[in-house]
Amino acid sequence: MTCAFITHPDCRAHEMGEGHPECPERLDAIVDHLLSTGLMGVLVPHDAPKATFEQLARAHSERHIHELTAASPAEGYVHVDPDTAMNPHTLDAALRAAGAAVLATDLVLGQGPVNRAFCAVRPPGHHAMRAEPMGFCFFNNVAVAIRHALEHHGLERVVLADFDVHHGNGSEDILAGDERVLMVSTFERDLYPFSGETPRGTNMANVGLVRGSDGSALRRAYEEVWLPRIDAFRPQMIFISAGFDAHRADEMANLRWVEDDYAWITQRLVECAERHCQGRIVSSLEGGYHLFHLARSVAAHVRSLAA
Ligand SMILES: [Zn+2]
Repeated sequence: MTCAFITHPDCRAHEMGEGHPECPERLDAIVDHLLSTGLMGVLVPHDAPKATFEQLARAHSERHIHELTAASPAEGYVHVDPDTAMNPHTLDAALRAAGAAVLATDLVLGQGPVNRAFCAVRPPGHHAMRAEPMGFCFFNNVAVAIRHALEHHGLERVVLADFDVHHGNGSEDILAGDERVLMVSTFERDLYPFSGETPRGTNMANVGLVRGSDGSALRRAYEEVWLPRIDAFRPQMIFISAGFDAHRADEMANLRWVEDDYAWITQRLVECAERHCQGRIVSSLEGGYHLFHLARSVAAHVRSLAA
């Protein structure tokens, strides 16, 4: 398998103030660990381009794109919600993050050797709604890439698997009712953004996990809910919203997953991709805030993607 690794220095320049958990050091920790373990050596590096207006507008309202562009400050910070701020580099970072997922899609669907891709980008995307930013997210990177796969490449069925500890409410907002997409997700119940228990579309298979539960609950969710839906759907490509904040060490939430659980779920999704769609997977970083375990969880994920 040939796995691309897509990032950009602009994604490091976005920051939201002293002590904010969604910080540039997240990417440093990931890259340092992939380098020191030698894993980076098996990946094919690419710089993320900026997503175009046309690409963004397949997932977002034109007004949202214009408002974010206009809000970009020349200096200091502009808050777009209580937890989410723009600095002078945020807009470029957000365009690169969405552009990374689009490039990943092009590489995986192209004639070259790449059939997997991991986007080490920030800001993350899965809380970004069709018409507004939310929860550290500005553009919904994965939703933009999914629409690119459907509308530019002409695919008819794609799966989005979201294992971030928070419900991907932005992805649901954009993709609910789009029957070309099956979204399967796990998240901690009664946690930000307090949605997901009642799916907004029949193309959503949501599994809320109980606070304090470990990776065995993820495994049950996969086997009982995700797997039968994915196999019945027969995807032509699989996208992953890869958040690592369900880790037991992550203070953002209360699940107790470990590195092995990220390896396990990635291996199962790889098997699905091999069964249905020549192994094609695009994965993009969402949450994960404990730097030490974020780096090791990403390595477990990427090692399984590249295997
Ligand atoms: Zn999260």
